[in-house]
Amino acid sequence: MNYFHNMECQFCKKIFKNLSNLNKHKKTTKYCLEIQGKIKEYICYCEKTFKDNLLYEMHKNTCVINLQKIIENKDEIIKKLEKDKDEIIKNLIKEKEDIIKEKDKIIHEKEIEIYKKQTEIYQNNMIHPIEKNITNITNHNHTSNTSTNNNCNNNSLNIQGGINFDNIEEITKLIHDYYDISYINNGQIGIAEFALQNYIKDENGNYKYICTDPSRHVFKHKDKNGNVIKDLEAQNLVKYLINGGLKNQALIRSEEWYTKDDGSCDKNKAEFSIKNCESILNLESDNTVFRKHLAKLTSL
Ligand SMILES: [Zn+2]
Ligand SMILES: [Zn+2]
Repeated sequence: MNYFHNMECQFCKKIFKNLSNLNKHKKTTKYCLEIQGKIKEYICYCEKTFKDNLLYEMHKNTCVINLQKIIENKDEIIKKLEKDKDEIIKNLIKEKEDIIKEKDKIIHEKEIEIYKKQTEIYQNNMIHPIEKNITNITNHNHTSNTSTNNNCNNNSLNIQGGINFDNIEEITKLIHDYYDISYINNGQIGIAEFALQNYIKDENGNYKYICTDPSRHVFKHKDKNGNVIKDLEAQNLVKYLINGGLKNQALIRSEEWYTKDDGSCDKNKAEFSIKNCESILNLESDNTVFRKHLAKLTSL
């Protein structure tokens, strides 16, 4: 049995009667050689088959169908590369846009933070510009006020220059030129600061409008003839500022500030600025914050 078993071709399983037949079979029979992998077929794209690699290579160089196929494959590779390239560029652009967006967001947040801090500083840490040469008069003024009620000695008041609240042109120009976003974004406190720095105080530090009774918000100034005039709760000054276009200027400058270069609105900035503008627009119905701050600034 063993003997016959060994006469079987290990590749195609055909049984042989003797070893020499088996060996001859394994070397010459085509289908067995194929199973053994000894006959290799080369198939071109044109479906011609070759047993010889050299012939196959020679054919490929002249076969139109093969060459077309090569071109097609190249086209496909190019197409794929171009698609990949587009995808990479798209991703890079998006990445860049995201970075810019994130950067803008951080800048805007910082800006808002700065303005909020500025407002806090104005509110909590008042800079009181007292000139030394005026403090003596303050004491004098104080005693005369308490002893004789409202009938104070006008000669003791250090009020410089006369104010003409009818000169709308003057205040309109000052508001237009100097009432900027840093005042506006500080609401009513900003109005008091603006009035002090640009209208009430002259370049030598002299005041033409002062508070003589901070608790009741009594302000005094001279008119164009040198007569001292009382402005209770700063009503005349407020009217003067409003007539000079204060509200309109606040709205214009605020909108300029919160509008982006592309014309869209920066929501964070707008929210912050509009809140401050509202207190400016409400000046006639409630100017407590303005008056309190002005009293601090002009109490000599
Ligand atoms: Zn065989
Ligand atoms: Zn071919």
